[in-house]
Amino acid sequence: MVNPEAITANIVSLNVDAIVNAANSSLLGGGGVDGAIHRAAGPELLSECRQLNGCSTGQAKVTLGYRLPARYIIHTVGPVWHGGDLGEDRLLASCYRTCMAEAASLALKSIAFPAISTGVYGYPLALATRIAVDTIMNQLEHTKIQVMFVCFDDEVRAVYEEVLSPG
Ligand code: ADP
Repeated sequence: MVNPEAITANIVSLNVDAIVNAANSSLLGGGGVDGAIHRAAGPELLSECRQLNGCSTGQAKVTLGYRLPARYIIHTVGPVWHGGDLGEDRLLASCYRTCMAEAASLALKSIAFPAISTGVYGYPLALATRIAVDTIMNQLEHTKIQVMFVCFDDEVRAVYEEVLSPG
């Protein structure tokens, strides 16, 4: 198993097979990491997204990366945090699992995830990080893909390092 790693970076700069976008269900762009990805990928991305008819929470759809170094973008829609009783944990885990399934079906060797749902969608960072790491660890038992958790700032990085550290 290749262990996942946490890095501090702007996800749009990464030279990986696919980056994951924390999109909204319209797939037509938004703020945060979604806005950054659309700006960096260029207008062709929005044209392709318009053909996709949106995406349900917990699911994912794939586009090309256009002007990004990454070949593909896997757009997934994380849950909005409503306090934790509306299946947010199950939906967030589904995002990570579905993206990994798409990556496997494309035979990708590397994938970079942002901290899905932890920005505007309000998912508590420590809870979301635990789900991200546990779900990916389970997936890595049956695939060799290299996984990066992309942290936009040191606060996010510290939480990922804590959850990833053994013991
Ligand atoms: P959501 O709507 O799913 O909460 P956001 O984009 O608001 O998504 O935030 C998700 C996470 O992505 C946050 O931790 C935010 O700091 C981070 N983020 C924002 N821009 C970038 C970027 N360019 N690269 C990597 N992470 C980013």
